[in-house]
Amino acid sequence: MADKRDYYEVLGVQKNASEEELKKAYRRLARKYHPDLNKDNPEAADKFKEANEAYEILSDADKRAKYDQFGFAGVDPSYGGGAGGAGFGGFDMGDLGDIFGSFFGGGFGGGFGGGRSQRRNAPQRGESIRQTVILSFEEAAFGCEKEISVNRIETCDECGGTGAAKGTSAETCPNCRGTGTVTQTQRTPLGMFQTQGACPNCRGTGKIIKNPCSKCGGQGRVRKTRKFKVNIPAGIDEGQSIQQRGQGNAGANGGPAGDLFVTVSIRPHPIFTREGQDVYVDIPISFAQAALGDTLQVPTIDGRVEYKMPEGTQTGTVFRMKGKGIQNVNGRGRGDQYVRVNIEVPKNLSDKQKKLLREFEETSTDANQAKRKGFWDKVKDAFKE
Ligand SMILES: [Zn+2]
Ligand SMILES: [Zn+2]
Repeated sequence: MADKRDYYEVLGVQKNASEEELKKAYRRLARKYHPDLNKDNPEAADKFKEANEAYEILSDADKRAKYDQFGFAGVDPSYGGGAGGAGFGGFDMGDLGDIFGSFFGGGFGGGFGGGRSQRRNAPQRGESIRQTVILSFEEAAFGCEKEISVNRIETCDECGGTGAAKGTSAETCPNCRGTGTVTQTQRTPLGMFQTQGACPNCRGTGKIIKNPCSKCGGQGRVRKTRKFKVNIPAGIDEGQSIQQRGQGNAGANGGPAGDLFVTVSIRPHPIFTREGQDVYVDIPISFAQAALGDTLQVPTIDGRVEYKMPEGTQTGTVFRMKGKGIQNVNGRGRGDQYVRVNIEVPKNLSDKQKKLLREFEETSTDANQAKRKGFWDKVKDAFKE
């Protein structure tokens, strides 16, 4: 793959080419190099393949972006981890079918090159489902059991997923012998041409159901609402999910069921906020409490806990209460609680209170208000007063 050419170069377009320009360039090359028009030119097949691959990537906005960013490594699995799906034939021809239609008079419907037709009767895994559960702050912190209701697709219990009525069974489609696909060989002026497509007789399922199950109408799967009990582990955080394997939508053709992801959304608490395992709480205190110190009754998720706040505590001071936070959802240990005290300046003072405060103010010294003194000293210095 060392000599692989840049996709834009292959198609002969600029890096900023529009979708329409890409399509035009590809059509031109497809006409020029189509293998059935170039029987005597062995190089044409390679050129055709090269153009196909380039167009497959560049016509897909997502793949094109990856290619622009990472080059081939972004889009080709053989370069080690990429978008996948690169290579000839693995994409939807879409309206490009008309190029070939005009050459061969149709007959391309089923998938060019054989890559398109993923067998419809192959086992398919069911889709996974995401369901949100709303928890209170405490339920998330301590864990709980929650009942949730999930609307999902289940295997029909009436027919066991076969889609055939009780006592009957689905028959193997005689047209495709159960494979779900048919290969048609067409003789054209340009030679024999093979196309592969879904079997029209069984619509690709490989089975014919003469008496469809009355419950699922022959689908083999039905939609049901189920109630589940889910164990929510202590410490789970906003947006985290609990995976319940095999509880998603049922698979088709014997494929396994998808998973159920129960995603947690936590209601805000009136006084606590949470960051990871840590809990934050703001407590208003009075000026006197801050100045004299006090024993605070601090609310925690475990209940009230006494905290000795020292004399001279400033507003906005944060105390840490170790191990009073939330349990680690993945293991041992708890977070901490951070308590911030904010001084509430008193309002609506009585005459007596005002008088006491004025007396207090008159007796206060620079030692009481070190910051205030420091500030005015700096002002004097700055303005050379
Ligand atoms: Zn059924
Ligand atoms: Zn068939």
